[in-house]
Amino acid sequence: MTEVLAYIGLGSNLDNPESQLETAIEALTGLPQTRLQARSSLYRSAPMGPQDQPDYLNAVVQLSTGLEPEALLDKLQGIEQAQGRVRAQHWGPRTLDLDILLYGEDVVATERLKIPHPGIAERSFVLYPLAEINGQLEIPGLGGVRSLMEQCSDAGLSRLSVTAQSAG
Ligand code: ATP
Ligand code: MG
Ligand code: MG
Repeated sequence: MTEVLAYIGLGSNLDNPESQLETAIEALTGLPQTRLQARSSLYRSAPMGPQDQPDYLNAVVQLSTGLEPEALLDKLQGIEQAQGRVRAQHWGPRTLDLDILLYGEDVVATERLKIPHPGIAERSFVLYPLAEINGQLEIPGLGGVRSLMEQCSDAGLSRLSVTAQSAG
C-alpha cells in the first residue's frame, strides 16, 4: 500500500477543548489505512474572526495514510460530526475543526478541497506545531516552515506544557 504523510490541524473552543482534541486524535489513530506518526504539543490561540468566543486549543498531527485526499476529508468531517460540530457562523465557535494542512507534496485545488490549506502562512497556531513535528518541512508553493514562522506574528499564541511525541 502506498502511504503518504499528511498533516492535520486540529482546533476546538467548546465543550472541554482539551478532551475534544484527545478524542479526535484517538479517532484519527483509528482511521482505516492510517497510522499516527507524530503529534505536537497543545497550543492556545486567540480566535480568528468573531472575537466574542473563547480562545482555541490547537494541535497538529502527522499521519501516514493510504486514504486519498477526498476520502481523508470525508473521514475528518465524520469525526467532526461525531463530536458535535455545528456550522453556524464562519469562523464561529466549534467543538472540533479538522483541516488537512498538507498531503505529501500534493497540490489540490477543487471546490471542496484546497491543499496546502490556504490559511497556513498566516496562522501561527498551525506553523508552530507543524515546525515542532518537522522543522525541515517544505510547504509546496510557500517555502520552509521556519521561514514562514519568522514572517508570521505569534501574538495570542502560547504553547501548553506537553511536548511533541513521535509514535514508534
Ligand atoms: P478554514 O478552512 O479557514 O480554517 P473552517 O475550518 O472553519 O475555515 P470549515 O467550516 O471547517 O472551515 O470547512 C468549510 C469547507 O472547507 C469544508 O466543507 C471543506 O470542503 C473545505 N475545505 C477546503 N480545503 C480544506 C482542507 N484542506 N481541509 C479541510 N476542509 C477543507
Ligand atoms: Mg479551520
Ligand atoms: Mg475546517
